[in-house]
Amino acid sequence: MKNPVAWVLCALAFTASTAFGVEVNVYSAREEALIKPLLDRFTQKTEIKVNLVTGEADALLVRLISEGRNTPADIFITVDAGRLHRAKQEGMLQPLGDPALEQMVPAQYRDPDGYWIGLSRRARVIFYAKGRIDPADLSTYENLADPKWKKRICVRSSDNIYNQSLVASLIAADGEAATESWARALVANMARSPQGGDRDQMTAVAAGQCDLAIVNTYYYGVMLNNTADPGQRKAAEQVSLFWPNQADRGAHVNVSGAGVTRHAQRRDEALRLLAFLLTSDAQQWYADANYEYPIREEIASRILGSWGPFKADPLNLSVLGDLNPQAVKLMDRAGWR
Ligand code: FE
Repeated sequence: MKNPVAWVLCALAFTASTAFGVEVNVYSAREEALIKPLLDRFTQKTEIKVNLVTGEADALLVRLISEGRNTPADIFITVDAGRLHRAKQEGMLQPLGDPALEQMVPAQYRDPDGYWIGLSRRARVIFYAKGRIDPADLSTYENLADPKWKKRICVRSSDNIYNQSLVASLIAADGEAATESWARALVANMARSPQGGDRDQMTAVAAGQCDLAIVNTYYYGVMLNNTADPGQRKAAEQVSLFWPNQADRGAHVNVSGAGVTRHAQRRDEALRLLAFLLTSDAQQWYADANYEYPIREEIASRILGSWGPFKADPLNLSVLGDLNPQAVKLMDRAGWR
């Protein structure tokens, strides 16, 4: 919604509708299809109506900031710990102050100060061309800098937060100087100048434009099960998933997550909704609908289980937010477009 008048009308609509019972207002950077069915179930169970506004992640945060104390939003849902951290840094969130709720989420997947929690997990891993690549030649993210991969890797641009967070995790593990050398070597190993989204990298591997791609795990699930576009399914069938760094720190894992907004008018309802999103049913739904891993590690998913067990980097994800500015500058210096 770019029109400021429309924003005001929308805010008024929120305010007016609160007269008709208990409600909670959600700003979500997740596509409506990936959140609405859960919110409907919450309403059925609790009779708390949920007003949902969806939008592009960065635009939604800008909107929250510009609305300030007049925002109708009680909950802010977005993807990537880097963005959750940014919302906290901008003063847009408040501490959850609900230890029972927070403790449902493993410590590494929530803010140490309690401003946000993860709701679902995704790993950013290596996909390789089936048949053309021997997985025995793969090992770590660091190994992607090896000259043997010259002009064989596809990855999206450095302005994407998923890549920024991956690079931040490398800085945390290897230090800034080593990560900068790594990024330079990775750029030399790119098969083409970065373009498109994660799915396009996978398609490029299938088409033979590159042999390896760096992609979030759920895109693999989405493509493999895409009944509307058989081309996507075919492409996904021609690649395999490789779990990097299994002999050391583990694969880079990120989250979708949420926090209660600083100016929330309905804090109690907001906390009830967050607790609902952590129930086994809701967690299972994320796995089934979007091929994301439950944030509660004890919940198993049948489809995702078939991709094998994996070791995840235990780094607290708030570190990705702290290191984001360093990561962005480093990628720029390395010539990662
Ligand atoms: Fe995504």
